[in-house]
Amino acid sequence: MARLGSWIESHPEGIYVRPADAWIDPSEAKPRAMITHGHSDHARGGHGAVLATPETLAIMECRYGPQPGGQSIAYDEAIRLGDVDVRFVPAGHVLGSAQIVLEHQGEKIVVSGDYKRRPDPTCACFVPVPCDVFITEATFGLPVFRHPETGSEIDRLLHRLHADPSRCVLVGAYALGKAQRIITELRLRGHDASIYFHGAIERLNQLYESFGVDLGELRHAGGATKQEMAGHIVIAPPGALNDRWSRRLPDPVTAMASGWMRIRQRARQRNVELPLIISDHADWDELTSTIRELEPTEVWITHGREEALKHWCMTHQIKACELNLVGYEDEDD
Ligand SMILES: [Zn+2]
Ligand SMILES: [Zn+2]
Repeated sequence: MARLGSWIESHPEGIYVRPADAWIDPSEAKPRAMITHGHSDHARGGHGAVLATPETLAIMECRYGPQPGGQSIAYDEAIRLGDVDVRFVPAGHVLGSAQIVLEHQGEKIVVSGDYKRRPDPTCACFVPVPCDVFITEATFGLPVFRHPETGSEIDRLLHRLHADPSRCVLVGAYALGKAQRIITELRLRGHDASIYFHGAIERLNQLYESFGVDLGELRHAGGATKQEMAGHIVIAPPGALNDRWSRRLPDPVTAMASGWMRIRQRARQRNVELPLIISDHADWDELTSTIRELEPTEVWITHGREEALKHWCMTHQIKACELNLVGYEDEDD
């Protein structure tokens, strides 16, 4: 019998599905690409044909302009590409994020893209698809990475906000996904005051709202006075935290929402006073419990901390290898 998944090629610039003549999340422009989600390290511009969910295509249009080669594929819609049956199923990572399910000659291979298992009010939940080969990310693939309950992190944020109404809390959050999730989680915890935002996340906020995610009352921080913003939450991309921009804010408490906030040194490097451990990636327990649930014969690891997960698979009688893809960065997520 041929090696499992011998019809999939791993190249530094991405995964190539030979019988479909298509790439998955390639880091270079390709004639045909399937895109798991809109983060810029996975969704690059310049491809010929682009297959993605309607949400991901909208995000790509927002970033790169019109996508004339775009072909939108709804979750669970079955398509045939060359000699491969293809389906996109929810990955629970950000709006529109998908795992790509590939079937060819009786083998089923699932490419997870980035994913998480805990509930996220801004996107569809991860759908487990049992498979022969599970191609997974491993951004937080070390046992030290265990994300706490999201609700308790949001409560810490609100507690800090209410402790001193003369200050604001400035939350650094990835512009696509994390920012909108934090806003929505705050709403779910009963925080219905205006939330101020940095101009860099405005279009993505609007895009989420156009897909039915209710963000409540938002205000542009650029048009507000210090006095107005006192006692309020301000959301900005991580790059703005230590930027001149933040001088316009009323004595901000600097917070950051990221799985990396588990590491104290990372928080210190960014002068973060209030680290919030909120991630859009699976933590160690989610990675390992997902593999247990899917029971794949093999696990291939795309990016992240591969060694520990590979070792875990081996001790659980699952063959595992690293694909050594380049160009994926989840530094702030
Ligand atoms: Zn991502
Ligand atoms: Zn990624």
